[in-house]
Amino acid sequence: MAFFDRSFDFVEDTTKLECFHFFDENDKQHFDEDDFKRLITSLLNQNGGTLSESVIKELFLSFDSNADNKIDANEFESLWNNFIIPLKHPVTALLVIDVQNDFIGGSLALKHGSAKQDGYEVVPIINELIEKMHFNVLVYSLDYHPANHISFYDNIKLYKLSNENEKSIEDIKLFDTVLFQGTNGKIEQKLWPKHCVSESWGSELHQNLRVPEESVLIYKGTKPDIDSYSAFWDNMKLAKTELDDLLKQKNVTHVLVCGLAYDYCVSSTALDALELGYAAIIIDDATRGIDENVIQLTKEKLASNNCIFASCSEIPNIVKGKDIRLEFAQVFAKSNKNN
Ligand SMILES: [Zn+2]
Repeated sequence: MAFFDRSFDFVEDTTKLECFHFFDENDKQHFDEDDFKRLITSLLNQNGGTLSESVIKELFLSFDSNADNKIDANEFESLWNNFIIPLKHPVTALLVIDVQNDFIGGSLALKHGSAKQDGYEVVPIINELIEKMHFNVLVYSLDYHPANHISFYDNIKLYKLSNENEKSIEDIKLFDTVLFQGTNGKIEQKLWPKHCVSESWGSELHQNLRVPEESVLIYKGTKPDIDSYSAFWDNMKLAKTELDDLLKQKNVTHVLVCGLAYDYCVSSTALDALELGYAAIIIDDATRGIDENVIQLTKEKLASNNCIFASCSEIPNIVKGKDIRLEFAQVFAKSNKNN
């Protein structure tokens, strides 16, 4: 039986030692590239397919900190703690992004977007996911703006436009993207209809959405002069929400993202998650977007950053660490190299 198919108590040091000795051929007290290749192949074999030599080499180098072409017992500690354990035992957070009235039946309803998608459709799908599955952390983000927010077309005169805009203020239309001159530099901003104003009906989560008591709510876009698509950072990465600290505190390794809208807040949240070292999965069938072209472009960007796209039916095996994707391995390896 392949080493990683056996059931282990991964907390035990004996398992760690057993793993080291199992793949350390001839008891050299280190892994060479061949040992490492057998380990990686065994770990990722559920995914089928063959791994290219260059991919394996890159993973190897991420853990060979002193670049001596060996993974010694010390480096194996990092491989074990930052790679094998999180791949085999995911700690998961489900991030439900902006399932709010304004995006469903309000001023920025997705059904009026060019993709003609219905935001409401995610509600029963997310409810079922929460009922059937266990996630270690449940997070709901809310787009939550003051009435004078910079993203509202109606407020264009409240903020200083950069002199680099192609159009004059009279010609700028709803949904145009403009440049504002902020105190910290230029800010690119798409102009939206007024939406998700704090404490209004439009900013409330849809009443049919299940929100278990232990859930965490993250409010974003709460400052007047900066927008925030991602639940982690504002659009200029000037300020962080409490989300990253919360997930780190709970030792979360995998972030699963769903909700509204695919091409803006869902994709931005997933991109930031990857940058922060989390494996990221977008649950495609629990997500709806605004513009088909923008959705496609964002998907390409997400894929090149090691994001996974999965359907609800694939989530149980991912959450249980039975479906280990190469992309997860690449995210954890990169994060180990950078830290
Ligand atoms: Zn907004």
